[in-house]
This record gives sequence, C-alpha cells and structure tokens, in this order.
Amino acid sequence: MGSISNIPFRILIAGGSYAGLSAALNLQDLCRGRPARCGSKPAEGEAVPEIPQFDIDVTIIDERDGFYHLIGTPLALADRDYAAKAWVKYEDLPCVRDSSNIRVLQGSVKEIDQVRKQARYLARGRTEDEMVEYDYFVAAAGLRRAWPAVPQSLGRKQWLLEAGTHITEGHRGRYGVVVVGGGAVGIEMAAELKLVRPELNVTLVHSRDRLLSSEPLPDDVKDKSLDLLKESGVEVLMGLRVQKTEEVKDGTGTFYRVTFENGKAMLADQVSFAVSRSVPATDFMAQQIKDEEGYLKIQPTLAFPVDSPNWSNHFGAGDLVKWSGIKRCGGAMHMGYFAANNIHQKMIEARTGKKPEFLALDEIPPMIGLAVGKSAVSYWPQAGMSHGEDVMKLFFGDDLGFTICWNHLGLGTGNKGL
Ligand SMILES: Cc1cc2nc3c(=O)[nH]c(=O)nc-3n(C[C@H](O)[C@H](O)[C@H](O)COP(=O)(O)OP(=O)(O)OC[C@H]3O[C@@H](n4cnc5c(N)ncnc54)[C@H](O)[C@@H]3O)c2cc1C
Repeated sequence: MGSISNIPFRILIAGGSYAGLSAALNLQDLCRGRPARCGSKPAEGEAVPEIPQFDIDVTIIDERDGFYHLIGTPLALADRDYAAKAWVKYEDLPCVRDSSNIRVLQGSVKEIDQVRKQARYLARGRTEDEMVEYDYFVAAAGLRRAWPAVPQSLGRKQWLLEAGTHITEGHRGRYGVVVVGGGAVGIEMAAELKLVRPELNVTLVHSRDRLLSSEPLPDDVKDKSLDLLKESGVEVLMGLRVQKTEEVKDGTGTFYRVTFENGKAMLADQVSFAVSRSVPATDFMAQQIKDEEGYLKIQPTLAFPVDSPNWSNHFGAGDLVKWSGIKRCGGAMHMGYFAANNIHQKMIEARTGKKPEFLALDEIPPMIGLAVGKSAVSYWPQAGMSHGEDVMKLFFGDDLGFTICWNHLGLGTGNKGL
C-alpha cells in the first residue's frame, strides 16, 4: 500500500497537539507541492523548487476531543474566558474541519506493531480495541503530567468544569493561594493568578535556594525570575519544604492548612502542587526503543532506532523524544516539521527511487521563555538573558502564546477550496 502511485499514503499520528498537528499540517503542505508552513520561506525573487505532490490520508488519534494550548494553562486556571479559548474542539478547528485529508479520532493508542505497520487503539466510548494500518507513523503523544499542570479532562465540556471549579476555589480570597514548586510551571501559575486577581494573596513555596533549580540555566536567569515574581506581587518562600497539607472545614467552607518541615504553618483557600515529575506517554511503544525513563530514542532524522523493525517508516516528535534541550512547544512544532519533511522524502523515494534528503536535528541548547505576570524572561545561549514587557510581547503576545502558536501552525485554515 502507499507505493502504488494512485493510492494515498496513510499516515498515522499519535497525539494531536503542537508536534502532531505540526507533522500533519507541514506534510499536507509538502504533499500539495507547497513549502512547509514551519520551514524557512524562500527569499523574495528566489525560485521555489518543485515539490513532488502525493495524495495522503492522515489520521490523528488523540485522547482529547480538541487542541489544547498547554502553555496557556497558568492563565486558563485563573481566567474562565481564557480557559474556554485555550481548548478548541477538533470539529471546530479549521485546519482539521476544513481539510479533506486529515481526520482526528478521539481515543488512546494502545500499541503499535512496527512489523505489520498497524496500531491498536481504543476509541472514546468504545469497549473493544480497533486496528488502524499505516505507511508512516509519528509518535507525538508528549508527556503525562499531573494536575494542575495539565487538564485531566479529555473533553472540552469537562475541562470547563474542571478549570471553573479550580478558579472558584482559588478566587475565594479568604486566605489566598499557595503554589508549591518553583519550576517554570509553578512560577507562571503564581504570577498569572496574581495578574488576573491582584487582590489575592499568592504565595509560591520552593524547597531550594533558587527558582528553576532543576533547569540547566544560568543563575542570572533564575535570579531575574525571582525578582520579577516578587515584583508581580507574589510572596516567595525559598528553601522551605512542605511537610503536609490538611483539609480543614469550618462553618464557611473548606480550606487548607499547609505545614512546613520547619514546623511553621499557613492557611490557604487552595494549594496547587506544581512539583510532579512528568513521564513520557510512550506506553504503546516497545521497551527496547525507549530509555530507562521511557523517552523514545530517536535518530537525528527523528526516525526510530535503527535496530527496530521498519524504523525508517516510524518517527517521533515533541516532548516524548530523548533529545537535548528543555522541553518546549517551539521545539515540538519544529520536530513535527522535520518529521513531515522526512516522511515526504520517504514518499519521494518510494515513488521515484530518489535518495532521500533528510533534515536532521542538531543538539538543542537549554533555552527558555518564561512568562512572569506582565513581564517575561528569555534566555538562549547566543542572545543571553533578556527580560521585560517587550520580551513578554515577543514570546507570548497578549494571550500567553495562543495566537502565536495558532498562526505558526496555521490552525485557522484547511486545504479545502485552496
Ligand atoms: C503549564 C505548562 C506551561 C508551559 N509553558 C511553556 C512555555 O511557556 N513555552 C514553551 O515553549 N513550552 C512550555 N511548556 C511546554 C510545552 O507545553 C510542551 O513542550 C509541548 O506541549 C509539547 O508538545 P507535544 O505536542 O510534544 O506534547 P503535548 O502538548 O503534551 O501533546 C500530546 C498530545 O498527545 C495526546 N496523547 C497522549 N497519549 C496519547 C495516546 N496514548 N494516544 C493518543 N493521544 C495521546 C494528548 O492528549 C495530547 O493532546 C509548558 C508546559 C506546561 C505543562
């Protein structure tokens, strides 16, 4: 299948977020003979090389019923309107709804058989697994993260309830909110809450002496993040470990007592833990192609390890791969584009015998863009650290990156009628 010229190539993508949608949409571009949307644009006047066109059928399987803008979570958990904006059902996502060759199934990929090139998945609401065959596969299922770093709901409707309940509790305003964990997620959660509701007491508790302590970033980035967090009005308690959190009820409702290892305690309307380790969502792949933590071992072309069956038809992209650099949505979209390009090259090879010209990932240095209320900190090795409201605008726009990602991926248009 797929190598006979009038039969569409079948592409299966596990995970329909930044990496998965990027793979699908960039591949759609290339297979229509157009430059990939996330690739470099030809300079003005430069001839666009002819790009071989192929019919494709792309199936994305995702556990959620829509695209969820994960990096907006800290704002979504502070603002109901934004929570509604951050989750767009696939049936309402123009790049899917208005595309004739991309379909999304809601379900969970359970196993892939690299030899037979088929996947077993459980569709939402069904009790029996089903099979889907493919010519090319992209693993883009990201990381499994704990609440409240990510929604646990799989549907938009439940998500709005989940976020709404969290917001109601956090906004009660009696004792305030305690966020535990001074990594990127904790910092952004505390700062966004303070930005949306300046009158609330928001406290961030971190067990180490520096914020972002587990990130391989220079100390000035970590120190600037602390300065900005304090400037945003968040109270920051460093070097303090939470020993226990107890639920307390009185006549007016439920609140929490947070006790620290030094014996001190404080009350809170809500305690958000932003400390859990995330694990790659790679259960559906064979053990020998993963490292000890479960990350998918890819080659620089993003292809599966060479000692695995049909490795050159299987690719991995996004947070679930073992690669250098801090996990970032920019990296996930970039990898999705590379996977698309390399699958397109494989299609050219299948149809013409031409040797593929693959794109290969370089090592990715540690880099970050961190929103801290009205301001942001950015760092990458060539540019060093920057911070300020202009950095916020550049990295996140005015909606914590929603419009930037939407436009970069071109989620607002499908291929019908173009
Ligand atoms: C709170 C928070 C804030 C962040 N802020 C930033 C930021 O400011 N800047 C930045 O660059 N990065 C940020 N990140 C990191 C960024 O969100 C990730 O790097 C990015 O989401 C990775 O994209 P992905 O497509 O690889 O995976 P994900 O976004 O995790 O998407 C994976 C998809 O796969 C689906 N899935 C999982 N398992 C299966 C399965 N078995 N079958 C079918 N579907 C499955 C999931 O439902 C999901 O839709 C943040 C992360 C968090 C949690």
